[in-house]
Order: sequence, then structure tokens, then C-alpha cells
Amino acid sequence: MNDRAATPFAGYPARVEVVEVGPRDGLQSLREQIPTEVKIATINALIAAGLRRFEATSFVSPRAVPQLADAAGVIAGIDRVPGLHVTALVPNARGAEAAAAAGVDAMVVFVSASESHNLKNLNRPRAESIAGLAAVRDIAGGAGIAVQGAVATAFGCPFEGDVPVASVLDVARAYRDLGIRHLTLGDTTGMATPPLVAALCRALRAELPEMEIALHFHNTRGVGLANVMAGLAEGVTFYESALGGLGGCPFAPGATGNICTEDLVYLLHECGIGTGVDLDRLCNVARGFAETTGLDLPGQVMKAGPRLALSPLSSVATACG
Ligand code: ZN
Repeated sequence: MNDRAATPFAGYPARVEVVEVGPRDGLQSLREQIPTEVKIATINALIAAGLRRFEATSFVSPRAVPQLADAAGVIAGIDRVPGLHVTALVPNARGAEAAAAAGVDAMVVFVSASESHNLKNLNRPRAESIAGLAAVRDIAGGAGIAVQGAVATAFGCPFEGDVPVASVLDVARAYRDLGIRHLTLGDTTGMATPPLVAALCRALRAELPEMEIALHFHNTRGVGLANVMAGLAEGVTFYESALGGLGGCPFAPGATGNICTEDLVYLLHECGIGTGVDLDRLCNVARGFAETTGLDLPGQVMKAGPRLALSPLSSVATACG
């Protein structure tokens, strides 16, 4: 650190939890099958780099998402270091049984704030999705496993446009009634902006102060990290991101995916906010993953390095004229 090293901006948290969702959200829409051992090695390398929170996979039907058919195998291969918190998405009771057998630390259930997105994505009305969650909660509870709730399209819906804050609050209250205390606001298609983030965080804090909020942004329109800054200003301490910015958007072909874990960690550290992650090692994992898979990842710090990674003077030709 140098004498310009940042101290957290007034009111910003001193430490946040970075939740790596690349193995689930980043990979699920990828057509090319990533071998199970590559997924496990990547997660374990991220653990060695200091990450402790992972949404590692999803216990969905292997026919629906072949990429995640190895869910149990991935969970089994993870190095169980102290303080590790591994979650998996669980769409229904069958998924919950499988997740409990695999030994996740928490199951993540999800409902869309928008009725049309829920119908399109989950094939049933919102109320029906919510009613089905009690079975998951009971299975998780019986196994001593926590349940977390995610709200998809919390900041906008590709079919309906703006999503009323009241719709997000409805889902959040349903989660609360199920005993859920950790709530992820998902910007499924990258429609969040800083004012929307501030407004939703404030409304939730006012209505459901007992809920721990996590923010899940996509960089679809280039303002993913600006949204993180808005979340930090609201005191939010959980951010979900994907290695190298993996992922895409099913409603916008070619669009950028999740916010990038290295870029997020770089931003947080430059703001004087602790993460427990070693940025150099993290960038090495991202570059190694890109090399192994041949994927062209949108992450930026993995390519440019942090701002004080200086270049030797001899590394560039002297400009003429
Ligand atoms: Zn996502």
C-alpha cells in the first residue's frame, strides 16, 4: 500500500463478501461442456486465492441444463476449508433432495419479481412458485441446511420493463414468511442502474430490516460496477460476481454476463474495502481458466493488471515524432 492507499468512503462498509457465481450462473448457458474436473480445479484455485463463498452449481434437471448435470460431483470435489460457504440453486423438492444429499451449506431458491419472466423462466405463475417453496424449506430444514432467496428481474424485466418495487417486496415478504433471512436481488438481464439500486435497497431496509441483502449484477449495459458503488453507499456487504465476467444474457444474444470477480475485487480494494482475496492469484485463476477452456472472457483487470502493476520502461518502443 502507498500513502494514497484508500480508506473506505464515509459510510461504506470496511469489508464485503464476494460470492463467486461463475460455476453456476457463468456456465449454465454455455453450450460447450466444461469438464467436471476443470470446474472443481477452478473452484479450488479460487479458494486458494481467498474466496470463501460460492454458488457452485444448480440441482436442475440435467435435461434442462446439461452443463450442470454434474452438480453432485462438483460439490463433492470442493476443498472444505474452514469458513467456506457453498450454495446451489434448487428449483424444486427433487433438487432439494439432491442438494441435501450432496452436502451444500445453503440452498438458493428463486422467484421472478415479474410475472411474465416467472412464466417464461419457470413455466408457472409467481404464486405457484412461491407455494412450492415450502417443500424445499422443509427438506432443507430436515437436513439442517439454510435456505436463501433470490429475486430474479428485481431491477427490470425484458418483457414488462420497469418492475415495481412492490413486486420485489411481495417476493421478499414471502421469503421472510418461509424463514429466509438472506435475500439476493438479481439483475437477471442487466437493467439495473445506480438510482434503481439505491431505491430498492432503501425500500427493503424500511420494510424488511431483518433481511440480509446481496446484490447480483450483470454488466450487460456497462454499469455493473457503478451499481456496486450504489450498493456500497447503501451499506450492502454481499456482491455476486463471476470469474472473468463469465455468462451471458438469454434475452440479449452476445451481451456481457455477470460482473467480473477480478474487476470487482480490484474496485473494492482500491476503495479500501477488504475482501480476503489475493487479487494477483485471482487474476491468475481467471487467465488459467480462459486458457484451459479457450473462452474469450470480458474481464478487464485479468488483462491489464492492477493500476500499480507498472511496466518496465523497455517494454514499449519509444514513440517517434
Ligand atoms: Zn445472473
